[in-house]
Amino acid sequence: MAETKYDVIIIGAGSIGVPLAMALAKAELKTLVLDAAPSPGQGQNKCAIGGLRATHSDGSKIKTCLRSLEIFSTWKEKHGDDIGWIKGGYLFPVYTERDEAVLRDLLKVQKGFGLDIDWIPAEKVRALVPGIADKDLRGGTWSPGDGSASPLLSINAFYRRAVKLGAEFRFNEPVTEILKEGGEVKGVRTARGRYEAKWVVNAAGAQAAAVSDLAGVKVPVRPDCHEAGITEPAGRFFDPMVVDIRPGDKSKNYYFYQNWEGQIVFCLTPQPPIWGDDRRSTSEFLPEISRRMVSLMPNLATLRVRRTWRGLYPMTPDGFPVVDFPAALKGYVLAVGMCGQGFMLGPGLGEALAAHLGGKPSAADREMLAGFKLERSFAGQEKLK
Ligand SMILES: Cc1cc2nc3c(=O)[nH]c(=O)nc-3n(C[C@H](O)[C@H](O)[C@H](O)COP(=O)(O)OP(=O)(O)OC[C@H]3O[C@@H](n4cnc5c(N)ncnc54)[C@H](O)[C@@H]3O)c2cc1C
Repeated sequence: MAETKYDVIIIGAGSIGVPLAMALAKAELKTLVLDAAPSPGQGQNKCAIGGLRATHSDGSKIKTCLRSLEIFSTWKEKHGDDIGWIKGGYLFPVYTERDEAVLRDLLKVQKGFGLDIDWIPAEKVRALVPGIADKDLRGGTWSPGDGSASPLLSINAFYRRAVKLGAEFRFNEPVTEILKEGGEVKGVRTARGRYEAKWVVNAAGAQAAAVSDLAGVKVPVRPDCHEAGITEPAGRFFDPMVVDIRPGDKSKNYYFYQNWEGQIVFCLTPQPPIWGDDRRSTSEFLPEISRRMVSLMPNLATLRVRRTWRGLYPMTPDGFPVVDFPAALKGYVLAVGMCGQGFMLGPGLGEALAAHLGGKPSAADREMLAGFKLERSFAGQEKLK
């Protein structure tokens, strides 16, 4: 039976756990990551389609994602490996008066945070996405600094870097117990051993609520099914992530972009939501999204779809993460409830949380976590989650 002491143990080698391990190891904190799966990113990270944006409606998310974008966009230049980063921007084309009012309203908040986003006229939308449906097109919002990267390439790059900096990973090792003594966390237990640490971080994604029960701390995270798909590659014909916020028959918004290999990657928000952890693809997803995508961009019609998949957003009632240090158990840390944005939040959150655990958070690190407290009403709603 292994028995070792660490500064930090992270439960979950996913979108959050891996970049956090990288930041902790960089700060010279002895770090162990335990995952039930056989390799990094086998939870929801590999389900993400790769969208990266800072243009949210809330300060903590905006600041965290700005930090993440800095890391994603400079990764190749700093560390050498290609993670498929494309600075393609995000485009929300608008066809109704109501959507224009919503997005223009949001622009005030986003500009208040200094984000590079603006309203653009219909001609500019047409230039950015050649062939986009013209009827009733009013314009849209455009944020050229946002982009995309490959979740698969990124997590493996972060994993290799974390290992190089000294973080340890153990796979095929689910955590079955969180060890406590006198209101303080002591470590964790798995079938293979007992590991001690000053801090235990729950980064268990869609399983975060069950893992948190082991600590005796309730967290309102539950899995919300979303499906996605990918086409064959084509020559590059548009750059932005296109987000259509109009409702469909069985869906809310949907979004798609052309990735670094020329494939169109797409995803849809079902309406009503599908709760639970069933990962089987549905027969409704592809007809619904392809009909909507082809009506928005008829020139997509000839592309063949290669595969679809279904994953789980670790959802909170208000669409915001929970990243906090619950008073009920000293040393226990929550990095959960990433909803549909864990891939884009991961590297920024990792740095901010590592600074907190190292005892030297800057004002910016504090601001990044300020909006993600466990003790909140959960009554608000993220505008574009
Ligand atoms: C279809 C789809 C598209 C998406 N697109 C995007 C996108 O474009 N951009 C974006 O930012 N986000 C996107 N997301 C959301 C993103 O995938 C998630 O928010 C993110 O992966 C959650 O990260 P996480 O680290 O919390 O969880 P995960 O990445 O799932 O990691 C959690 C890990 O914990 C492990 N674990 C669980 N229980 C235990 C235990 N008891 N012991 C040990 N290990 C355990 C799991 O095996 C898993 O590896 C998308 C999600 C879906 C489903």
